[in-house]
Parts: sequence; C-alpha cells; structure tokens
Amino acid sequence: MGTLARLAGVIGDPEARLTYSLRSLARTDGKPAIELSIAGVASVACQRCLSPMSVDIHSRRVLVFSRESAFGAVEDESEEEDYLPIDEPIAPLDVVEEEFLLALPWAPRHEEGQCPGVEDGAGTRQSERSV
Ligand SMILES: [Zn+2]
Repeated sequence: MGTLARLAGVIGDPEARLTYSLRSLARTDGKPAIELSIAGVASVACQRCLSPMSVDIHSRRVLVFSRESAFGAVEDESEEEDYLPIDEPIAPLDVVEEEFLLALPWAPRHEEGQCPGVEDGAGTRQSERSV
C-alpha cells in the first residue's frame, strides 16, 4: 500500500497493518455497486499526551454508482450507502484512502488515566519524572 501517500502522512507508522477489500455487488435495481471493507490497526498520536497509541479500524461501506445526483433524487439511499456520480472516473485507491481517513478517530486519546507519564490528568508527576 505504498501508494497511499496521504494516509501514510496521517498514520506515520510504516508498520501499520491495514487491509482492504473491494468487491462488486449485484443490486436488484441494476446499478453497479461495490462493497468496500477496511480493517487494521493504525498508530496515531494521543491528543492528550501525544504518545503513540493503536486504534482498531473497521469499516464497511457500499458505494453505488448512479447517474442521479449524489446529493438527492435517489429514492432508496440509506446511511450505509454512498452514491457516486457514474460519469466521474473513480480511482479505487482514492476511495480506499478516503475511507481509511474517515475511519480514523478525529481526536484519539488513551482511556482516562491511561496516558503514560500523566497521572489522572493533573500532570504534576510528569514534571517530577522528567530527566
Ligand atoms: Zn495519551
């Protein structure tokens, strides 16, 4: 997955194990669709202590290619399906990368009190410990 430059910049962990799968779906209405599944573990910086932390990423999305507008006029649109205008060329890796970026937590943090070097958010112990 070396081509996902934007993603690499966000995660910053070359050892991150991220996988994705794309498969085409047969829909009853005849519209072409793909199912995108992503999974993996990403290393991101905790927004409280800035130490690296691992987050599990799991996402599944159905992308339906439709001639109708992506923002309306679609009768059976549900929250789990995204409609893409069929006239635009789709770069699969761009879609995959976008999905990973959306799946990443916006402000990842360790569990309360679990930040290494920070005691219950007071932060006093941290300075005592510093070299
Ligand atoms: Zn933390």
